[in-house]
Amino acid sequence: MIEMSGVCKWFGEFQVLKDINISVATGEKMVVCGPSGSGKSTMIRCINRLETHQKGRIVVDGTELTDDARNIGAVRGEVGMVFQQFNLFPHLTAIENLMLGPVRARKMSRKDARERAEFYLERVHIPEQADKYPGQLSGGQQQRVAIARSLCMEPRIMLFDEPTSALDPEMISEVLDVMTELADSGMTMICVTHEMGFAKRVADTMVFMDAGEIVETADPGTFFGSPRSDRCKRFLQQIL
Ligand code: ATP
Ligand code: MG
Repeated sequence: MIEMSGVCKWFGEFQVLKDINISVATGEKMVVCGPSGSGKSTMIRCINRLETHQKGRIVVDGTELTDDARNIGAVRGEVGMVFQQFNLFPHLTAIENLMLGPVRARKMSRKDARERAEFYLERVHIPEQADKYPGQLSGGQQQRVAIARSLCMEPRIMLFDEPTSALDPEMISEVLDVMTELADSGMTMICVTHEMGFAKRVADTMVFMDAGEIVETADPGTFFGSPRSDRCKRFLQQIL
């Protein structure tokens, strides 16, 4: 479970997050959308402390994110993150990319790590790509390797930051399908995405951000059917 209450963040003089309040229960899926620069990435990056907040509280599965490095380590172990850019190691094969975290961070044997990696490559439907290097894979395949790499750490929460926005159109659905399966398996997820078909299918809660604020939080039916604010209406008209 993730709770942000009264979270504020500044980059210098610029306030990027203004009194953010969200609560994501175990198993819940939240989809976050909003214009470029509204603070979506910054908000989710605060959850695994890739960014630090200056005011308010962030609690992940009972652990509050403070300057205490032990808390940060505990939370990072529970929270997986997938980015727009896949960030795979180019000199390692797909399966080696997956094995790295469990072997290095979890001190798992290479044999066990390989078995686990094979399991998750199967889960993202590319077991046959195990021995290829990232440069030999399509964008959609690379992103699925990146998702599997996160899953190899067996996180309880997954954060996605526009995972399909760098992909060619024909590869978007293969990544969204994997994310949908993950959602259906009960994973707690926060997804920043403008893929509204996906959002309608998986979201329990929709969040619209603008200029550092959460402008609207609603179930998908209400959000898409009768958004309250003009800002949200205009945004949806542009992207739908
Ligand atoms: P996009 O849809 O383009 O990804 P976003 O909603 O994810 O946008 P953020 O990346 O969170 O937006 O950025 C929010 C604001 O904070 C932007 O105005 C951005 O320029 C600013 N910003 C982000 N990172 C930094 C940084 N490290 N230093 C200073 N300003 C930053
Ligand atoms: Mg962003």
